[in-house]
Amino acid sequence: MSEKVDLRSLNLEECLTFVKSLGWPSFRGKQIFSWVHQKGCSDFSAMTNLSKEQRIVLAEHAFLRTVTITDCQRSQKDETVKFLFSLADGQTIESVLMLFRQKDGHDRTTCCISSQTGCPLGCKFCGTGTLGAGRNLTVGELVGQVYAANQHCKEIGWPFLSNIVYMGMGEPLLNMTNVLKSLALFRHTEGQHLSGRHLTISTCGLVPQILALAEEENPPELAISLHAATDEKRSALMPVNRKYPLAELFAACSVYTNKTGRRITYEYAMFQGVNDSMEDAQQLISLLRGKLAHVNLIPANYLPQTGFYPSDSEMIKKFADKIEKSGLAVSIRYSRGQDIAAACGQLKAQKEQGR
Ligand code: SAH
Ligand code: SF4
Repeated sequence: MSEKVDLRSLNLEECLTFVKSLGWPSFRGKQIFSWVHQKGCSDFSAMTNLSKEQRIVLAEHAFLRTVTITDCQRSQKDETVKFLFSLADGQTIESVLMLFRQKDGHDRTTCCISSQTGCPLGCKFCGTGTLGAGRNLTVGELVGQVYAANQHCKEIGWPFLSNIVYMGMGEPLLNMTNVLKSLALFRHTEGQHLSGRHLTISTCGLVPQILALAEEENPPELAISLHAATDEKRSALMPVNRKYPLAELFAACSVYTNKTGRRITYEYAMFQGVNDSMEDAQQLISLLRGKLAHVNLIPANYLPQTGFYPSDSEMIKKFADKIEKSGLAVSIRYSRGQDIAAACGQLKAQKEQGR
């Protein structure tokens, strides 16, 4: 074996094949898999049911650490932590960890992870879009963000992650193979053991990939970044809409809902004077009427590099009221971590600009 194996990228079957190549029995593979994917182990020395010699052999042939925290900021205003990770090739990515206190005492911890180091889709309002295309994250880098976040939860006394959302940097459906593999690892009973209902993929609306995802045996929740209700407006904000206009996108969404029984969340970031009028609300209602849909209104994050301003809160409330009165499910997601640059692509962009 020449190159070291990234253990975090291996599913159980591959892990068993790997230990076999070392001449070890398969139960060792199962032990190692659970160290890696259940306990999120980042250090061979912690694998206490392996002998010292075995740990040395393992370290000679494999590695565990795929992402390294280079910056970690905790919001003073709300329970949000932002991580900047560096990868082996020197690139950086971001993740956000959020604690949601619940009245019933079952607090939820959600981690928003990145799927690429940039994004080629160039949405006009998006910090990651301004970075341009990056590369796909490996499976190890995808799951590594979650394991590092869990480790941090342990250190600060938060419950372990209950929800994972692919809503950080990049377009997860452009990194389909690795994202699907990471989902399977998060669902695995010897891994994080999360159900598909606690895993959410956010996409700008790549139709063929949405259709492929609908075929998955244990599909994730789906969030569509909609942000506009007419083709004209959406194409101006999101170039991807020229390739997959609303009619095609909604046809794919119906397939997803019919196959999976899942209600789709439509993300609608509110940009002042761009998509926040009562006419926009009416168009959104017409577009979603009769669909199994939930509208998530997000006060936009202002980023100097994109220049879109958030709608004022009165406008957002009026917009939400109109949607609610139409009978559609709607919520307003107040942006977290405003004081720590927790918007998509924001921390990385700040670092790169030396601000
Ligand atoms: N590429 C995927 C997932 C990553 S983007 C997608 O587009 O869905 C995560 C979310 O942040 C998307 O809903 C995106 O539209 C939103 N977003 C990007 N820039 C934003 C901004 N400036 N204000 C509010 N939301 C923004
Ligand atoms: Fe890419 Fe999503 Fe940003 Fe659009 S919103 S540029 S698809 S990361």
